[in-house]
Formats: sequence, C-alpha cells, structure tokens
Amino acid sequence: MKTSILDAGKLQTFAKEHKLQPFRIKQIYQEIFKNQNINFADMTTLSKDLRDDLDKDFSVVTLQADKIIEDKISTKIWFQTHDGHMIEAVILYHRQHEKYNKNDQEKLNRITLCVSSQVGCPMWCIFCVTGKLGFKRNLTRDEIVSQILFANQYIKQKFGKQEDWTLFGVRNVVFMGMGEPLLNYENVKKSIEIMLRQEAGLSLSRRHITISTAGIIPGIRQLIKDEIPVKLAISLHAPNQALRDKLMPIAKSYSLEALNKVLSEYVRASDNRIFYEYIMIKNMTDKPELANELLAMLKGKLAHVNLIPYNTNPAIELKESDDATMQEFKKILEKWGITVTIRDSMGREMKGACGQLGYEKITKEEN
Ligand code: SAH
Repeated sequence: MKTSILDAGKLQTFAKEHKLQPFRIKQIYQEIFKNQNINFADMTTLSKDLRDDLDKDFSVVTLQADKIIEDKISTKIWFQTHDGHMIEAVILYHRQHEKYNKNDQEKLNRITLCVSSQVGCPMWCIFCVTGKLGFKRNLTRDEIVSQILFANQYIKQKFGKQEDWTLFGVRNVVFMGMGEPLLNYENVKKSIEIMLRQEAGLSLSRRHITISTAGIIPGIRQLIKDEIPVKLAISLHAPNQALRDKLMPIAKSYSLEALNKVLSEYVRASDNRIFYEYIMIKNMTDKPELANELLAMLKGKLAHVNLIPYNTNPAIELKESDDATMQEFKKILEKWGITVTIRDSMGREMKGACGQLGYEKITKEEN
C-alpha cells in the first residue's frame, strides 16, 4: 500500500531524500488542494521526474472509487477501502433558479458533500438502513479527507470553472453519511483541521462544516473542551425519553435530560446555535402533541429545527408523513419563534439521502 501524501512526516523524509527545496512541498499541496488534482500525472507544475517519483511512493486519495451514479441534483460515490470495505459519499448540487437566464437554466449555487466517518454504524437506530449493516471500523483521517479530494476532482471535471475563474468544488461538508462521527472523535477532529487549514488544507469555512450526532454526550463534551468551531446537528427525532428509546437505542445510554444539559453547556460555551434533526415518520413522530412537546423542550433555546421527511425503503416498515401533517407540525413549532425548515430530500431518488446509505448492500443480502 502506498503512503498517503497527507502524511507530513513521510513527505518530509521523501523531500530530504530527493533533495527537494521547501517550496516544492508547497507546490505539491497547491496541486492537491487548489488545483484539485488527485493524480500526480496531472500535476503539471511539478517536473515529470518528481511526478513519477511521488507516484511510486504516495497516493493522494487512499480510497478506490468503485462505482458512481448520478442524477441532476446529486452524485453518489461508492468507495472501497484498502481492506475491502465499502463506504459511500454523496455530492449534492444546490441550484438557484435564474429568472433572467436566457436558457432558463438553473445556476449551480453551492455544492455540499455528505461524508462517511465509519464503515457501517454501531447506533442501531430502527429507522436507518446504514445501522443494519453493523459496525466494521473507524475511517482514518485521510480516508475522510479523501472523500472530499475525490469529489473536488470529480466536480472540476464535471463543471470546470466558475464565473470568477476559480474552480467549482465542495463548499459544505456534512458528517451525515455512514457512521457516528463522535465515536470516531480523533480522526474526525483531525480531518476537520485539514478542512479548515489554509496552508496544505481545503480552506473551508467553519460555518460550512456540520457534525451530526445521534447524541454521544462524551463526544459533545470533548467538542466543547477542544473548542471545535464547526456547526453541530443533533439527531433528536423524538421530544421525550420513551419515544426516543424506541427509535434510538443510544438514548438508553445517554438520556434526553442529560443530552439537553450538555447541549445547553455547548451553546453557552460556543454561542453556536444547534440544529435539531427530526424525522417525520407517519403516525409515529409526526403527531401534533409531539410538536407541542418539542416546542416546550426548545423554547428559549438557540435552536433551529430541520424536519426530515422519512425516506422509505423496503428493508424497514415505516412510512413517511404526508405534506399536510408536516406543515401542521412546522406551524406549531413556529408559534413561538423557533425557526424550522422542512428538508427537501435531496438525493432520495438514488438512495443517497440520509439513512439510505448501505441500502443496496442490505437488499442484496436479503435476497
Ligand atoms: N450518526 C450520525 C450521523 C448520521 S446522519 C447521526 O445520527 O446524526 C444521518 C441522518 O439521517 C441522521 O439525522 C439520521 O437520523 C437520519 N436518517 C437516518 N435514516 C433516515 C431515513 N430513513 N430517513 C430520513 N432520515 C434518516
């Protein structure tokens, strides 16, 4: 197996052995992060010899893209890890309708990448397909960053340059793919360092990175302690302990009361608002009395609620709420000034939406 080029120590050793001047290392990182190249052969600001030598020892992306499918709003990529596991990432294209555009085209506004943090997931939430795969292992820092580097190169090939001549690339990263990011804390943290870094990094804005968690309290405590400046989303899905217990086994280890307490600490320490994810499952989470309970829980808090229409799939016997019920739920929450969005289920068609990752594997195994 080749070494990851993001291993700064190994690259230093290589530089010494090959008597490279320090600016060459900068150039290499420039080629990766700014020019969005993942193949050394394409890094034409480097000499042919250097490209060949790098290629012998290093790889930029430590995952192998196995299969890609796409539609107008998303691209789903299956990666194989060096030890033969499959993980997935989904690129989501947000377009803005341009009224004055002659061809009535929708302009590409921003691009989000949904990344995986683990192979499988140990949470066992009853509504989630990924959970049914079980848990295999944590992804390394470089496997997490690799998903972004691959996506950037893919997007460059697909869209080229923007109006201001900079390349199109991933602007937002959400840890909403496979896995529970706060159970892979150190690698997630290190991957975020690379995402935020200007030098030898992706230069993403901290406001454009979101960690989503099922509610791992020690992990949230650590986020506070380390002052990780990115956005935090909580997969809440239920406003009371009994219902949450039913949906998410993890709720039994980390109670709603304790979760709310640590989230208050988080808001106090970071002054960041919290994004609450709430799945709308028919006759289960979508009742008006639950909306009122949620309202009471969030009253006066720095919170935003994302209502996520439940994505159905044959592996799980739950149904999505109808539109009118979701609107009604939203209205109740808004009564006291809580901001609410009903998420459009981007990528749903090709099973790339939340909780759908791993779907093919499940259906295959069951057939
Ligand atoms: N383990 C983390 C990261 C996964 S994020 C977490 O729980 O937050 C994936 C998001 O999609 C979570 O909010 C999850 O609860 C939600 N989700 C899972 N299955 C879903 C489904 N079938 N339909 C809609 N959302 C789902």
